[in-house]
Amino acid sequence: MDKFVEEPGMRYCPACGGRLEEKYLEGEGREIPYCTACGEYRFPIYSTAVSMEIFSPSGEKVLLIQQYGRKRYILVAGYVNRGESAEEALLREAAEEVGLGIAGYRFNRSRFFAGSNTLMLNFACIADTEELSLRPQEVDSACWFGLGEAREKIYRGSLAEQFLVEALDKGLNRVLLEEKKRR
Ligand SMILES: [Zn+2]
Repeated sequence: MDKFVEEPGMRYCPACGGRLEEKYLEGEGREIPYCTACGEYRFPIYSTAVSMEIFSPSGEKVLLIQQYGRKRYILVAGYVNRGESAEEALLREAAEEVGLGIAGYRFNRSRFFAGSNTLMLNFACIADTEELSLRPQEVDSACWFGLGEAREKIYRGSLAEQFLVEALDKGLNRVLLEEKKRR
């Protein structure tokens, strides 16, 4: 277990507020939080978010942003709305936060982030332009970096760094570029 996957745990019933106890559940083969008042097992509740490496149309640069007055460079990310698919969320967030249209995307990997009780789904995307239009309430600055430089600039020790490094090591920018050419 590392710092990203520590179980925050659920102690109270989200429906009635009663204290949960652990009860064995046959199908799961383990103890699951159970509310005796509701007579229901309570499975974990957490948020879902998308984060993305957005590559330039040439596939040679990747977009990193700075947010909320912090100097660290991170990836464009946002929560998935209830009822929305992850794919819809990534198109919406790219448009809202940095004003970019996405020409193609590929799932990279997911990780649970205990700090915000969020399952992060990471996608590699290719933009249809380099022209940005930032949402000033959320994004302070956004920059296209060469791929080597982006590895240096990305916030050290973050989940964003793990996602970016994996996407670059897999060559997802080249995969997306090839797919775009074939269309
Ligand atoms: Zn309850």
